Amino acid sequence: MTPAAKADAAGQATPAPARFDAIVVGGGPAGLSAAYTLAAGGASVVVIERGDWPGSKNVMGGLVFSQPTSQVVPDFWKEAPLERPVTRREMWLTTGDSVLKAAYESTDFGAEPYNSFSVFRSRFDKWLAAQASAKGAVIITETLVEDLLWDGGKVIGVRTGRPDGDLEADVVILAEGVNPFLAEKAGMSQGVKAEAIAVAVKEVLALPKEKLEDRFSLGTDTGAAFEVVGEITGGIPGTGFIYTNRDTISIGVGVILKDMVDRAGAAYSLLERFKAQPQVRRLIDGAGRREYAAHLIPEGGYRSMPSLYGDGVLVAGDAAGMVNAVFSEGANLALLSGKMAAETVLQARGSGDYSRRTLGRYGDLVGRSIIMKDLKTFEGMTSLFSSHKHFFSLYPQLASAAVKEMLTVDSLTKADKMHLITKLARSQMPTRRLIKDLWDGWRAFS
Ligand SMILES: Cc1cc2nc3c(=O)[nH]c(=O)nc-3n(C[C@H](O)[C@H](O)[C@H](O)COP(=O)(O)OP(=O)(O)OC[C@H]3O[C@@H](n4cnc5c(N)ncnc54)[C@H](O)[C@@H]3O)c2cc1C
Repeated sequence: MTPAAKADAAGQATPAPARFDAIVVGGGPAGLSAAYTLAAGGASVVVIERGDWPGSKNVMGGLVFSQPTSQVVPDFWKEAPLERPVTRREMWLTTGDSVLKAAYESTDFGAEPYNSFSVFRSRFDKWLAAQASAKGAVIITETLVEDLLWDGGKVIGVRTGRPDGDLEADVVILAEGVNPFLAEKAGMSQGVKAEAIAVAVKEVLALPKEKLEDRFSLGTDTGAAFEVVGEITGGIPGTGFIYTNRDTISIGVGVILKDMVDRAGAAYSLLERFKAQPQVRRLIDGAGRREYAAHLIPEGGYRSMPSLYGDGVLVAGDAAGMVNAVFSEGANLALLSGKMAAETVLQARGSGDYSRRTLGRYGDLVGRSIIMKDLKTFEGMTSLFSSHKHFFSLYPQLASAAVKEMLTVDSLTKADKMHLITKLARSQMPTRRLIKDLWDGWRAFS
């Protein structure tokens, strides 16, 4: 392949070397962060992306978090295509006819350096690619990497689907997303397993800006993000989300693939169920569908992570299972891991040694970082939710019933109400089972 003949993300023909210091597979946050950092550090780097442009294949809710993003591109909010800073977050527990809400709102989140922004990845990734390109990275699109090139046990490049499509480099960074086909071929990943992967469906619904701001009680420069659990997933572990954009709403729901298959349900019907929830219906009433998409999310966490490094190869982002499903964080971990992979390569470049031993520094960096620490904290989460599906039905129902009882003013005394609530809880959830749930939860999260 002749990279010099390709146009970069900004549409300019960039003179490119015949051989690169690094090849990055995948133009998502992990790959683009790696490319940006490598190019800024003076290395020659090419990103190979199968989509029409970086971001074209991406389906995120989604929120981009400010602090990790600015570690890659400082003050990104001044230029990046962002929708709204998220100034209010709400957690909803639903039972079908009721919602128990916890909300947090902060004016700090609406001012520099912000906390998070709603974005469209098709625009955000394209912008990030242009930043990497401006630093000197070459971005090749519409090109599928089909295989790795090997010299003995060392990765020395990639084979693409194009004629004359082999490309060599000192190191290959695999940032191929949730389906780590190449990492699997390299024997680094076990691939995706239905019990450790969520399927998410998402719609973008259009609503005039003023109406949206009125309905969600927003100003022109504030935004809201809702995470919803409970009845909406019909007893399957999962989450719904609603994020406000400028004049659209991103709404979606994600459940573990295996649970969905076992229930023979379709993810789309769960989204319809979510949208039919009375409190949700009010928010999206009259909003027209602009986009529909489905995507997988690796939710196996720490226990499903592949080897992060080998001779001449590193794995970052979703391909390495770096998603914190409890807090719906993935893009931030992808950005940080891409940066750490690049920093490792820049250091290896000094000695010209890209062996597994030298690249092992990436494992150390990730291991000491928030990525591994958070993933370890929540390592038991997927199996806990899978074996305790009632967390998503029984507990929201009990919580809702308790609050309803306390808020209903009738002839019962508050002491009588407390007694009723305790009786109801005990009938639905014997004390021994409650203690076991608390113990299992504590063990999974500690
Ligand atoms: C519905 C949904 C909502 C989400 N919401 C949030 C959120 O609000 N906040 C958050 O932080 N995270 C969120 N996530 C998770 C987040 O999207 C991912 O963690 C993040 O995109 C991972 O980045 P990545 O670069 O590792 O992978 P990706 O973004 O998936 O990028 C991988 C890229 O590699 C390309 N590729 C794959 N294989 C090849 C190949 N062989 N050759 C060439 N190119 C290839 C793909 O086309 C893709 O562009 C959400 C995910 C989903 C599905």
